[in-house]
Amino acid sequence: MLSLKDQNLLRQACYINGTWVPADSGETFPVTNPATGETIATVPRCGAAETERAVQAAEQALKTWRETTAVERSRILRRWFDLMMANQEDLARLMTAEQGKPLAESRGEIAYAAAYVEWFAEEAKRAYGEVIPSPFKDRQLVVTKEPVGVCAAITPWNFPSAMITRKVAPALAAGCTIILKPAEQTPLSALALAELAERAGVPAGVFSVVTGKASAIGGVMTASPIVRKLTFTGSTPIGQLLMAQCAGTVKKMSLELGGNAPFIVFDDADLDAAVAGAIASKYRNAGQTCVCSNRFLVQDGVYDAFAAKLAAAVSALKVGNGTEEGVTQGPLIDDAAINKVEELVKDAVDKGARVVTGGKRHALGRTWFEPTILADVVPGMAVAKEEIFGPVAPLFRFKSEAEAVQMANDTEFGLAAYFFSKDHGRVWRVSKQLEYGMVGVNTGLISTEVAPFGGVKMSGIGREGSSHGLDEYMETKYLALGGL
Ligand code: ADP
Repeated sequence: MLSLKDQNLLRQACYINGTWVPADSGETFPVTNPATGETIATVPRCGAAETERAVQAAEQALKTWRETTAVERSRILRRWFDLMMANQEDLARLMTAEQGKPLAESRGEIAYAAAYVEWFAEEAKRAYGEVIPSPFKDRQLVVTKEPVGVCAAITPWNFPSAMITRKVAPALAAGCTIILKPAEQTPLSALALAELAERAGVPAGVFSVVTGKASAIGGVMTASPIVRKLTFTGSTPIGQLLMAQCAGTVKKMSLELGGNAPFIVFDDADLDAAVAGAIASKYRNAGQTCVCSNRFLVQDGVYDAFAAKLAAAVSALKVGNGTEEGVTQGPLIDDAAINKVEELVKDAVDKGARVVTGGKRHALGRTWFEPTILADVVPGMAVAKEEIFGPVAPLFRFKSEAEAVQMANDTEFGLAAYFFSKDHGRVWRVSKQLEYGMVGVNTGLISTEVAPFGGVKMSGIGREGSSHGLDEYMETKYLALGGL
């Protein structure tokens, strides 16, 4: 049993309409620790009926929640933020137990997740409208912002806390109510957030969490005419499926889907900075983030030097159980994840790639994979097209700037891109030409609650965080006030 300072943060029930409930059927499913295989807890396996009740409760709660003032909502969110930070250690331990990431990364994610709550507590008060200079003497033209209404969120396991708060906090700030289905692998972080939201004063029905059967819960969320918006972070195929399911009720959607981030190192780059950026953008969360560098495009003149420096930095990574001091890389989330990484490496090696370091399962067993670098990687290999979602850095070679941009854009995805160069002209040229929602220039870390996060092409629709993140939960209403 996982012991916490505040044991009430380990919730094993769903939170629907302000009460902690089991599944109607009484069924549960286990939550396991990927580092040990142990069952940490069990949570309800809910389905359509429980989700329908959460939707009804959200509709009911919306009537009063949308009428609260922005200041009232802001204060509740602020209390939620304070409670998250006061319980940071417990929340981090819960996260490492169910997700596997090193404890230092979990602490960091709790602070990052809480930062979204703090940010939207502030933004709630700034949902300004507009007055448009009228072309008619007898009419005033006014634009107001209103909450979208009842929203639904589906989130992944790689950031069990931050992917929730960047959706739920702006929804609540805007005056919407929301029902969340967290990933099967990491429901405990979600339920702990609901516990703290309740303590912060979020009223019953405003924020519900339903764990269980993804397709049944998602089916109700997408088909219900009461739900006016669906927000999803996860794989592109599931995003496409949900988009199709939402067509029947023409819902607003925010989709944050897969990526295939290029990381370009030009001849004129500061190689030490590039290596530091590469480590941060590739090996964080064992390579399981949607903005992880997927393809390292390295210019001819610095290819060997970059590979050597990166290999030296990778050899300093410490693989192990995330609860152990100094560990920088935990296990992958499950067997499917490690099988996929293994297949991608095999495909590359079979087609002529060279293993610089790593390349296989780690001696620790289970789902640990060695931090890996592959050289001589070419576009025909599967790693060029598919999201790796593991600690593998494939190094491609290029000659000219034009070739680098062409290779970088040669993907259906468009989430994050990174490049390193000290040339001012090139920095601007390449930034403009990259078909991505986010570009990190001379940095491998781009995520912050104050900036708009999101992608283009098949990486999704909409932006999270920043002032744009609040807009996603608001409708624009135009009033033509005549007869004046
Ligand atoms: P990943 O590969 O990261 O697990 P998924 O897209 O499969 O990505 O999962 C992201 C989220 O989508 C999870 O919460 C998962 O349960 C949910 N999900 C998966 N399939 C469906 C579905 N058919 N309907 C609704 N949600 C789904």
